[in-house]
Amino acid sequence: MNMAQLATHDPFITTRFDAALAWARKNSLFPLPFGTACCAIEFMGVVSSQFDISRFGAEIVRFSPRQSDLMIVSGTVVYKMVPILRRIYAQMAAPKWVISMGVCASSGGFYDDYCTLQGIDQVVPVDVYVPGCPPSPDLLLDGLLKLQKKIDEQRLLQKA
Ligand code: SF4
Repeated sequence: MNMAQLATHDPFITTRFDAALAWARKNSLFPLPFGTACCAIEFMGVVSSQFDISRFGAEIVRFSPRQSDLMIVSGTVVYKMVPILRRIYAQMAAPKWVISMGVCASSGGFYDDYCTLQGIDQVVPVDVYVPGCPPSPDLLLDGLLKLQKKIDEQRLLQKA
């Protein structure tokens, strides 16, 4: 676009503050991987160049809960880990979201035994469940898109 064309275009974009905030939030998620088992290997695929999670603005993985707003629980969670999972979630600043990746995190999977938590939603709120054992990287990306839509809808719900 040359200067003459620029001059004929309005250089201002108008929007509402909450719309801009939701747009910024959903496109700048900072994931914290809570990886405990094989699903975490698929998560590594998602953040690598082949699947490239940075296309969705979520490439800056943080291992400090204070710098994260998206916990991705990938793998089996045993009861011994529950206090740690709860504490890490509590240390994340609001607003914050949780993706449960794979059947083990979502329901215990085939580990229906005395030591395995039968779903992380018993101890932390889950926003999106990603099915599979393991979920493929594109399924996790699909879960991320669903979360982005939810973040947008949260804004709409707050407005109502
Ligand atoms: S869902 Fe499957 S791949 Fe994922 S942690 Fe459980 S057993 Fe491993």
